Amino acid sequence: MPRAEAVVLKLRFPSKAKREWLDRTAGLFHQGVQLALDYALSAKTSNRGKIHAATYSSIRALGLPSEYCRMAVNEAVQVARSHFGLRKKKRRAGKPRVRTQRIGLGVSAYKVVGTALRVSTEKKGEFLWFPLSVPAHFRDKLQYVKGDARLFRRGDEWFVMLPLSVPHTPTVRDGDGQVTVIGVDLGIARLLTAKHPQGCLVVNGKPIRHRRERFASLRQRLQRHRRTDLVRAIGSKERRWMTHINHKVSKQLVDLAARYPNPVLALERLDGIRDRVRGSKKFNRTLNSWAFRQLVDFVQYKAARKGVQVVFVDPRGTSRTCPRCGHADRSNRTTQAIFRCVACGYQGNADVVASLNIAAAALDVLRHGPPDTARPHKGQAPSVGRGLGGVKVWVSAHTDSNLQGSM
Ligand SMILES: [Zn+2]
Repeated sequence: MPRAEAVVLKLRFPSKAKREWLDRTAGLFHQGVQLALDYALSAKTSNRGKIHAATYSSIRALGLPSEYCRMAVNEAVQVARSHFGLRKKKRRAGKPRVRTQRIGLGVSAYKVVGTALRVSTEKKGEFLWFPLSVPAHFRDKLQYVKGDARLFRRGDEWFVMLPLSVPHTPTVRDGDGQVTVIGVDLGIARLLTAKHPQGCLVVNGKPIRHRRERFASLRQRLQRHRRTDLVRAIGSKERRWMTHINHKVSKQLVDLAARYPNPVLALERLDGIRDRVRGSKKFNRTLNSWAFRQLVDFVQYKAARKGVQVVFVDPRGTSRTCPRCGHADRSNRTTQAIFRCVACGYQGNADVVASLNIAAAALDVLRHGPPDTARPHKGQAPSVGRGLGGVKVWVSAHTDSNLQGSM
């Protein structure tokens, strides 16, 4: 079960020498992942043990500290699994990309001491210390850090993503310390829908889709004329453009959240997007998961800078559960755009409903910790509506008229 909660924190002013170590290690890590992945692809396996046995010593020989080699293998296993998974579903799967500028931090490679991160180096018993920027409301969470973490770079800054294992005790403060949970729904027709106390942020996905389709047809035409150089150029132009949009959208979202007291942004774990558009070939071309992953990355690090907490929730059921009565049914979703509860008659924009459900699920995670059993049985209402009673949150206070403006 992927973790439901994690914090992203910025490394505070690492010295030049430390930054060089980070860049160098990230370079080696990337090589290590690539090496393991190359083996996985050529041997057509995603078996961790096999990949480890075949590649560990060569990854080690790159000069990567031993604690990091295991993580490089793990990352290659993940990339290979998703690649083979796509192929199994008979979807077009290009050569899988290994992401750069990041370092997997295995449990044994780091320790959080106070508000600093201690990281193992290639020399046994020698460590690097990185002071972290920790917003006040995160401080008491650091005691729950547990599991494999990750260092990553965005622009000139380095961040660490720390998984949390929060025990099942309420972590939401009562009264004035109330959190503001804003659920974020990502999709195609609407790139982003985020219902917040004073309105709803909507980013229309249509112009983006159109532009991507134009890019795609242009690429196809060039491909026919065997102009692979131009195809590549168009591809990178498209990526730059999409990156620009993701920067803009993530900034808008995080700025919005930062206006509220104790803000929490709730996002679906990304496998959800893949699930929801299963079988849609058109989708793959128009907005691939790469763009969504990047958007979520950007939201994470911008949120870390502004002290906005980010919570990930299980996406199952968020698009077909009634936010008023909790009835979960596929037939609640009559069309792509409209949600109508077959049990209580509640009606609203489908993306706004998803955003509300995501917020409710996140609140559940915050109050009770990640669920023990992540997978609700088919047909059974997921836990989204649960736990709202007695807690004053805007999620339960909205009315249909609030939705009007955003439909
Ligand atoms: Zn209902």
